[in-house]
Amino acid sequence: MLSRDEPIPGMPNSTQRDRKYHRQRARLVASLRERGIDNERVLAAIGRVPRHAFVDPALRNRAYADEALPIGQSQTISQPFTVAYQTSLLAPQPDDRVLEVGTGSGYQAAVLCEMGVRVFSIERHQALLERTKTLLDRLGYRVVTKHGDGTNGWVAFAPYDGIIVTAGATDVPDPLLEQLREPSDAGGDGGRLVIPVGGRGGQQMQRITRTGPTRYQREDFHSFRFVPLVSEEDGE
Ligand code: SAM
Repeated sequence: MLSRDEPIPGMPNSTQRDRKYHRQRARLVASLRERGIDNERVLAAIGRVPRHAFVDPALRNRAYADEALPIGQSQTISQPFTVAYQTSLLAPQPDDRVLEVGTGSGYQAAVLCEMGVRVFSIERHQALLERTKTLLDRLGYRVVTKHGDGTNGWVAFAPYDGIIVTAGATDVPDPLLEQLREPSDAGGDGGRLVIPVGGRGGQQMQRITRTGPTRYQREDFHSFRFVPLVSEEDGE
């Protein structure tokens, strides 16, 4: 009898690989659920995105482990738990406009696309962004991207229903607050910013909701450790 991950004679290798990744994704989703992620739309999106396509071929056997992995330029693809956690806090609805700061590998953007979100994403490393754009196009994920400093936001497409920052900030950039959608006259909250804030050693996840033209409500969540958010002013 064949064990679950042994090749099946006669079946094309590509089909066998797809099945293997499919099983690994299902196990990843189950482990995220066990760790407390309960947003079914987020879990379904993670269950569909081929994370193995977003990592270096040499690391594909670790693509569905719950760990961050290097993507070059001293950057990382975030741990799946972190992606699930931030996306759950953002809780985007289909057709929402979401700005991502820190495109990196494109994985987070792909998860948002799978949720029917209109994604705008900024990355400060041009070479990384070019590679990621090619990959997202090839996989059919439509993400509007830009090379630049995401701490300035992206005025051209503002206001946003959500902004997600995937690098560790030392403080909350004002332009991101200003580019959140204001609450409508009909009631309901305005846009939400999900951002890890702290020092280089670790950051606290914050969710900041726009509750009026100049009013914001802040909620604090778990601690994480991200690569730093580097602004033009930092000059690195
Ligand atoms: N969201 C990414 C993914 O799914 O792979 C993870 C990104 S990685 C943890 C953080 C990214 O933020 C890096 O690619 C880094 O170059 C980028 N970054 C850091 N500071 C930035 C800034 N000011 N503007 C835009 N991108 C920035």
